[in-house]
Amino acid sequence: MQQGALEIIQGDITSLEVDAIVNAANQSLLGGGGVDGAIHRAAGPKLLEECKTLGGCPTGEARMTAGYDLPANYVIHTVGPVWGGGDHNEDSLLAGCYRNSLQLAVDHKLRSIAFPSISTGIYHFPIERASHVALRIVLDFLEAEESAPRVLFTCFSEQDLAVYRKTYEELQA
Ligand code: ADP
Repeated sequence: MQQGALEIIQGDITSLEVDAIVNAANQSLLGGGGVDGAIHRAAGPKLLEECKTLGGCPTGEARMTAGYDLPANYVIHTVGPVWGGGDHNEDSLLAGCYRNSLQLAVDHKLRSIAFPSISTGIYHFPIERASHVALRIVLDFLEAEESAPRVLFTCFSEQDLAVYRKTYEELQA
């Protein structure tokens, strides 16, 4: 993995000047609360128009649109699992979100991608466990894929940032 290939930062994902930001969307792709609402507000109404043409997205998969009024060129919409106690395939569905988003970025030759903490808001996936799944899959992808983009994990709160940084250290140890 290249130096600087993965960064964990705190901030508002809608403000980032990267090739693509990832949206923690719902299966309809027609907008929602949390980061989804923030992305649609910042991108403007054309984003919803394009999303309407996609016909939704199954949990664990990802779809790409333009970024419209966002500083980012593209939005990769992925649907995280709703937490159902941990024995409903949540870990592998969440891993699929990160892997499929990264694969879309590689397929489109993107150089940078920013992720929010998928599923840990309205979908209630416990953040410690989600951070392990997320960082493990991204580190594995970066290791295996030479043309992988630079990855920014964008934590909204200071607490979330602390969790992701601690998990990262644990995975490096
Ligand atoms: P989900 O339905 O997948 O749980 P949410 O949008 O409810 O998605 O939450 C996912 C994460 O996104 C949460 O950690 C939430 O705090 C965070 N979040 C909300 N708004 C933003 C934003 N503008 N930038 C980055 N992260 C955000």
